[in-house]
Amino acid sequence: MASGTGDQTDRLAQLASELLTVSQRLDKLEKEKASAEGKAADGILGAGLERAATPLKVGYTSTPTTELPAEAGTSSPLRVPGSPEVKSGFSSRVILTTYPKQIGIKPIPLEWGAADPVQRGPVTVSRSPSTIGRRNAIGAHGGSYSIYYALALASKELNPDHKPDFTNAEPAVNIGPFPQWSDPKKIVAMDPWGHVVPWIHKDFIDKENIDLRPTIAVTKAHMKLPELEESVKSGRLVPDGKVCLNELGELAVTKFAVEPVWYLPGVAERFGIDEGTLRRSLFEHTGGMYPELITRSDIKVFLPPIGGLTVYVFGDPARMSDPSKRLALRIHDECNGSDVFGSDICTCRPYLIFGIEEAVKEAQNGGSGVVIYFRKEGRALGEVTKHAVVYNARKRGEDRASDYFKRTENIAGVKDMRFQALMPDILHWLGITKIDRMLSMSNMKHDAIVGQGIPIHERVELPESWIPADSRVEIDAKITAGYFTQGHRMTEQELAAVQGRIWEDIDH
Ligand SMILES: [Zn+2]
Repeated sequence: MASGTGDQTDRLAQLASELLTVSQRLDKLEKEKASAEGKAADGILGAGLERAATPLKVGYTSTPTTELPAEAGTSSPLRVPGSPEVKSGFSSRVILTTYPKQIGIKPIPLEWGAADPVQRGPVTVSRSPSTIGRRNAIGAHGGSYSIYYALALASKELNPDHKPDFTNAEPAVNIGPFPQWSDPKKIVAMDPWGHVVPWIHKDFIDKENIDLRPTIAVTKAHMKLPELEESVKSGRLVPDGKVCLNELGELAVTKFAVEPVWYLPGVAERFGIDEGTLRRSLFEHTGGMYPELITRSDIKVFLPPIGGLTVYVFGDPARMSDPSKRLALRIHDECNGSDVFGSDICTCRPYLIFGIEEAVKEAQNGGSGVVIYFRKEGRALGEVTKHAVVYNARKRGEDRASDYFKRTENIAGVKDMRFQALMPDILHWLGITKIDRMLSMSNMKHDAIVGQGIPIHERVELPESWIPADSRVEIDAKITAGYFTQGHRMTEQELAAVQGRIWEDIDH
């Protein structure tokens, strides 16, 4: 990390000891108050504490076996001010952060980009008592779902001592390893060994009681979409019993689910910023959730609290990495309203279905068809922001294509936060070295992929007949902003004439 973080570390250490003083004072005050009011704690404060403590009353986790004594004058494990320590069952000491030279801190070596998975080392992020001192990653497993995990433990739906049993959870198909897996510049946003963690690092798990979990899972499934029954009926898709299974358009698919694992120096490089700036921004804008982004410059890996991705592969997955086989690819960013509920104000579901149909055809022709679904709702602005933009425009009767990105920018501050810079990692991981048919018009996706050295031979537009009438606003705005088209790119004037339904129309 860049210089200057030494100062930050010192300041944090100072802050930590000030917090300790405050917490000790609060502690003392509580005890005095409790003894003044009697053990039943009938006072308002006492009763409040009692209520707050109820769900956690009978113990939550055993006292950590790994104590982390502080270096003199730096960090000290702190008590949560006002916490009913014994009743909660949490250990009375809260480890707010750790420091590289702290006693008890001995990270499992992790060499990002090492070709041998044992030498590379397991991504270790758990804060369980036997693992917390051995962590070589910041954050938590599960991406955004880590919060539900916390709730499950807090409400005792989940036993903190539960150890996952990965028997029969091996990946459903073999994949790689590919040379890309050991190129620390090609894969920076996922763990290329994330699907084999429980088996490769069994010794750590069994002998040292280190809590390690996979960040990739591979399975097979059938999928059924009503539009594909139509595709079969209309003759565009022909059931072959292998990829397209029957007249209902059911499909056989191999799925890879991937959680984000960021190698911070590599992520910073992709965005053209320094690692210190990246760490500081992540720390600040997650409400200070991960202080080790600041205090542990020796730890380079971060599991961010965001959604991951799922790869849907049609045909033999081995063909993806075979340069002699054709590959059709759809990269799709989540749009719940359209993808799941079929709302017609954008082209998301039509493009997704079109992508699946084309991918299936490619697989049936002896090639490979791949659809990758990223959890990045509403241009990664979230559905609330996205809907605020749409609602605002329509309520004012001004849902014009020419205003589409401007309106987004007014509300969100940017046009789009999907930042495709990290997206190509999954292509490297799948062993993809070229794309024959790219089922996307996005210039951002195109540029990110080509920028990573993966050529795109043909870009395939969403056919006119697939575009819902009311989503012209979105698609025309995108085309004018630089999305790929072989058709007409509108002038600003023409664009201003493209208008969506206004609310009065919908209400009537
Ligand atoms: Zn959409």
